[in-house]
Parts: sequence; C-alpha cells; structure tokens
Amino acid sequence: MRKICIITGSRAEYGLLFLVMQGIKRFTTHHSRLNASPLTSHHSPLTTHVPLDFTVSTYERLLKTITAHAIPVYGVREWVRQSPPHGILLRHDVDRKPKNALRIAALEAQHGIFSTYYFRIGRNSFDPAIIKEIHKLGHEIGYHYEDLSLAGGDHNKALDLFARHLAQLRNLVPVTTICAHGRPLSRHDNRDLWRYHQMAAYDIEADAFLTIDYTDVCYLTDTGRSWASHAPNIRDEVKTTKYASIKTTDDLMRYISHMPHSKLALVTHPERWGSSAIAIIKSYLRDMAVNAIKMLLVLIKLRQGNSATSVVDIGAL
Ligand SMILES: [Zn+2]
Repeated sequence: MRKICIITGSRAEYGLLFLVMQGIKRFTTHHSRLNASPLTSHHSPLTTHVPLDFTVSTYERLLKTITAHAIPVYGVREWVRQSPPHGILLRHDVDRKPKNALRIAALEAQHGIFSTYYFRIGRNSFDPAIIKEIHKLGHEIGYHYEDLSLAGGDHNKALDLFARHLAQLRNLVPVTTICAHGRPLSRHDNRDLWRYHQMAAYDIEADAFLTIDYTDVCYLTDTGRSWASHAPNIRDEVKTTKYASIKTTDDLMRYISHMPHSKLALVTHPERWGSSAIAIIKSYLRDMAVNAIKMLLVLIKLRQGNSATSVVDIGAL
C-alpha cells in the first residue's frame, strides 16, 4: 500500500482539492491511498486511492498481450492504405513530454509493434531529435494540428499556419497524416479547418478523425486516465456502434485476449505513461484536476443545451 499525504494551506485550497478527490474516486483501484488534510481544518482527512495504472511496465504488458495473440497492429497511414478486416489501430497524441513518447516508441519497436506519433508544434511537444529518433525506430510521424485555434478561428490565417508548421515537421521526417489536437478550452474545433478546404492540397493522405470510418471499430482512449468511454471527453470521440466495458489497462488486456470486436482503435497520450512513482503521481493528480475542469465544461455545455457528448478532448490543457 502506497500512501500519499497532501497538506493544504487553507480551507479554500481544501475546497478545490475536494473536486479533485471526487474525480479520483471515479477512477480508483486499491493499490494506493491518498490522504489530504487542510492545516486549518479539524475535520477528518479525505481519503481515496491512487491507481498504479498507466505505467511504462503496464504498457509493456499490454504490448506483450497484443503480440501473444498475434493481433496485427497498424499506424494511421497503414490502416487507411490497407483497410484491414481485423486488427488494432494504434495512435499516440504527443501533447507534452516527448521523452515519454520516445520511451514508448522504443518499447513498441522492441516488440515489433509500429504505430503513429502525432506531434504538436509547440515547444512542449516539438522536439526535433526525438521526432527523428521515433521515425528511425520505424514509426509513422504525423502532425497534431491546432492551427484554427491558434488563428482564433480565422481560416486563412489558420491555413498559412498549417502550411508553415507542416513544413517544419517535414523538414525532419515524411508526414502524410494529421490528427487534430482537442484544446477543450478553445471555442474552435480544429477539424473545422477542412470544412471548406482540401487536405489533399497539402499532400495529406488522411486525418485520423475525418478520414477513417469508425462505425465498426471499438475506439478507446486513455484520455482522463481511464479507458472507459464515460471519462470526461470533449474532442476525442468518434461515431461507432462498438462499445466495450473497459476501465483499466488490465481490463483492456482481457478484452484484447478475446477481441470480441474485429477492429480496435487505441489512442494514448504518452505523457500519461510514467516510469517513476513521482512522475505517475504528478501525472495522476494533474489528470484528476483536468478531469474536474472538463466535467465543469461538460456541465456548462449541458446547461447551454448542447450535447455532453459533442466535442471534448481532455488530452492536454
Ligand atoms: Zn492532443
């Protein structure tokens, strides 16, 4: 049992933490325990459990499960080109911490598994040396674009930015597929860039959301630190008819052992997959805080009369 204690300086902070703790309870397992106590309160501390899921070693067990069952794995470009009747579409959105992405990419290559890594243009994601290294390992590199948000919704400005950023990435490695970054706090859905423009004009073969038909694909993302489809999610959803009751990575391994659906799409954010205890706890607390914010956004959307399932990617605030 791992115990973590958080001591807050004021009742106000304790109040904010309460939201985080409520979020944590939704994703709990029983490996660890988190106690939080405000210095200024005489109340009993809140208690919850920190799941030790989403670690690099868990990811390696997931890879071993996939190879043990000889399930073919495809990156986005190959999935679109080959249109396989059976297999796993594996995609990674590198919102932050590119070093984590390199660690995951090396692990996959060791196990003979190759996927697609989408990099943003900002300095938290765009690391030329790491991008080239992941490409060298045999993975596909794609552009994780957010140019409509960056341009404040101005389509012409967004297209200029898109072309410039794509060229930056293509200076390093070949790029033929793209995937929109969610930016839940932005009013703009970056995929709207292609409502009036053709991605083919930029020699782009596919967009991971727009080009692929997910109707018969079970789509699972680690967004919100749970594979469950109820995890707060604003812009990382697809239209599908295939669902699975999966919450933890162990659940996912059991699912893969049986593969009840012939096609599975897995989306990870490598920043979430830590290797040290401190990194895991930091990432965990961040995810829970972000989840609390996203839940609020969903509630606001509901109050505004929009569907809660419309558009939300929690991947990176
Ligand atoms: Zn993203």
